Amino acid sequence: MNSNDLFKKEVHSLKRYVPGKPIEEVKKELGLDEITKLASNENPLGPSKKAVAAIRNEAENIHIYPDSLAAALREDLAKKYDLSPDEILVSNGGEEIIKLIAQTFINPGDEAIMATPTFGLYTTNVLHMGGTPIQIPLKNYKHDFEAFIEKINDRTKLIFVCNPNNPVGNIMTQDEIHHLLKNIPEDVVIVFDEAYYEYAIKNPQYPNSLKILKERPNTIIIRTFSKVAGLAGLRTGYTLTSSKIINEMSKVKNVFNVNRLAQVAARASLQDEEHIHNTVSLNYESLGLMEKYFEENHLEYIKSNANFVFVNINMDSKVAFQELMAKGVIIRPGYLWNMDSWIRISTGTLEQTENFLCKLDEVLKLE
Ligand SMILES: *Cc1c(COP(=O)(O)O)cnc(C)c1O
Repeated sequence: MNSNDLFKKEVHSLKRYVPGKPIEEVKKELGLDEITKLASNENPLGPSKKAVAAIRNEAENIHIYPDSLAAALREDLAKKYDLSPDEILVSNGGEEIIKLIAQTFINPGDEAIMATPTFGLYTTNVLHMGGTPIQIPLKNYKHDFEAFIEKINDRTKLIFVCNPNNPVGNIMTQDEIHHLLKNIPEDVVIVFDEAYYEYAIKNPQYPNSLKILKERPNTIIIRTFSKVAGLAGLRTGYTLTSSKIINEMSKVKNVFNVNRLAQVAARASLQDEEHIHNTVSLNYESLGLMEKYFEENHLEYIKSNANFVFVNINMDSKVAFQELMAKGVIIRPGYLWNMDSWIRISTGTLEQTENFLCKLDEVLKLE
C-alpha cells in the first residue's frame, strides 16, 4: 500500500505547522548564550507570581486526575463575564477550541470562510474534517468583508474573524463587524478569535463580542491564557458561546483536557489584575519604540492592537530571519504567509525591544 492509501486522505495532504524556533535549539545551533525570542507573542514579564505560587501548591496533587469540567475556573470566568458556566468551555489552549469547532460543525464539503493571511490553524482543522476553507485575501491589510459576504452559500458553516488578526495585528472595528453580521444568515456560525483581547480592548473601536453573543447564539468567542496571562507553556484557553454549542463541543473534547496545574494557574491569573495591567502597558511602550524606529526609517508597518507588530523591511524575510538569528534575535519571517518582505516581531521587555531594533538596524544597513 502506498502512503496515499494508508493514511486518511485529509491528513496526508495537510502541511505541518511551523512553530517559532525554541530558544534552547537556537542556543545550541549557534553557540549563543543570550537569545531574544520575539517570535511567538509570549509575555516578556513571564507569568503572574500568583500563578506560580498556585502551581507550586498544586504540584503535590498531580497524581489525581483534573476536574474534566474545570468547574471552579468556569465559575470564575462566568462571574467575570456575567455568563452562565454552561456557556463556557475550558480547553488545552485556544488551539483546542479551533479543533473542536471544526470537529463540531464541519461535514465533508462544508465551507468555512476566513481571511488570508490569518491564523493557520483554521485552515488545518477545516481541511482535517474534510471541509473547504474559503480564503479571502486581505484588502488594505484588513478582512475584506464584502468578499466574505459574496462567498456565503448553502455550504457555508463557519466564518472565522481573527480579531486582532495574527500576523497583521490590526482589528476589525465594531462598525465593520456589524455590517458583516447584518449580511450573514443566522445559522452561519461566526467565530471571533480574540487571543489578544486584553491588548485590543484599549482601542475604543474594538467590538463587544459578548454583546453580540447575547443577541446571536451562533457566535463563538475564543480567548486564551497564553498571551497576556503568560501561561503559554501550560496550555489553557476557553470559549464563550451558547450552551447549545458548548454541549456539542463537550462531547468531543478530550475528557481531561486541562491539567491540574493549568486550572489553578489560570484561576490565580484572573485574580492578578496588576500583572495584566503591567503587561499591557509594557506592550504599548515596546510597540511605541518600534513604531518610532519604523517611522524614522520609512518602513511601512501596520498599527498594532496586539503584542506583535508586522512591518515591511523591504528585504527577503528569510535572509533577515537568518541574519537576526545569527545575532541572537528570533523573529517570525513573513514568507510563511507569502508576504516575503515582511516580518512579525513580538513585543519584548524594553531592553529586548531595543536589542532587536539595534540588530535590525545592522541588518538593514548591510543591505
Ligand atoms: C496564540 C493564538 C491562539 C491560541 O493560542 P493557544 O496557546 O493555543 O491558546 C489562538 N488564536 C490566535 C490568533 C493566536 O495568535
